[in-house]
Amino acid sequence: MKIKSHGTRGSVPTPSTEDFSTVKYGGNTTCVSIRPENSNELYILDAGSGIRVLGNELMKSGEGLGKLVARFFITHVHWDHVQGFPFFTPAYLPGNVINAYAYDARLQDTKKAFADQQKQADNKPTDVMRKTTGTRAIGHKDPESNHPKNVMKDVMDTKKKYFPVGLEAMAATINFHEIRKNEEIQGPLTVTYKFLNTHPQGYAYWRFQEENGGSMVFASDYESDGFLKTGVKGNLGELDLQFVKFAQVADVLFLDGQYTPEQYQKSKTWGHNDIEQACHLAKAANVKMLYLTHHDPNSDDSKLDKMEQHAKAFMKSLDSDIEVFFAKEGQVIDVPLVANTIL
Ligand SMILES: [Zn+2]
Ligand SMILES: [Zn+2]
Repeated sequence: MKIKSHGTRGSVPTPSTEDFSTVKYGGNTTCVSIRPENSNELYILDAGSGIRVLGNELMKSGEGLGKLVARFFITHVHWDHVQGFPFFTPAYLPGNVINAYAYDARLQDTKKAFADQQKQADNKPTDVMRKTTGTRAIGHKDPESNHPKNVMKDVMDTKKKYFPVGLEAMAATINFHEIRKNEEIQGPLTVTYKFLNTHPQGYAYWRFQEENGGSMVFASDYESDGFLKTGVKGNLGELDLQFVKFAQVADVLFLDGQYTPEQYQKSKTWGHNDIEQACHLAKAANVKMLYLTHHDPNSDDSKLDKMEQHAKAFMKSLDSDIEVFFAKEGQVIDVPLVANTIL
């Protein structure tokens, strides 16, 4: 499989046209594509502003002119993961086929978890936003309203005036598929997911597995519950252990690495990792390569360079030879099929 990052930024796009300070790691929000080894299908994960760039690539190559067969997955409905969808040009062209997969949040036991987190957040007004707004929006009261099945319709609903054209303007064939709990999606890649409730309003992380080939796990918005609850680096909570099992021996793990250890102390419960704890998670999952992603809008290239060096050194200090990188927009990672050793 070939994995390409089209957007690595978290929270909000960060163009740097004045000082070019974000061109190395990129300013577009989350979008990644995967091309399986022996298939023409394209797997797309998330529709941050990076999906516009992917769409332009597909138009340029001609694939987007009616030949595209794509499977589209979404981690969650925060703006930085859906805002680019109306600008994905191939969706407007007849002949293209997009199979959109949505997990069913109603099937998860999220209501109680959300309520618990809300209670916890209300009791601990530790950040400025909570002080000014009363509470941060941790623990959405109605997880069904986040159902990604409706995301595309919501983003492009003319009545809501978010965007001047509606989903009906998209002439591609868009099929919606609902995924049941623990369901595997079969195809050139086998796709599975797990629901996570430490990210505000919920999140789904995904695994893409190629038969006789590589595997990629994507968890761009992830906060370790073990570290959050105990404050002890390396401590893995119940949800961490679930994640570690899910991501076991993946060739490539994209994992939330938004904060330095200092930043994390001021941003607990915001749903993002401290880079050192991210290294612990990757080590416990025994992955081959770790790509830290969801870069903070206030981290410019020089800061991200320093964070990458810090993370590499920290991983070494754990006696691990896992390769650590900070994800870059435009970067392609090639995970080849496993060589057939039986001659
Ligand atoms: Zn995000
Ligand atoms: Zn988010």
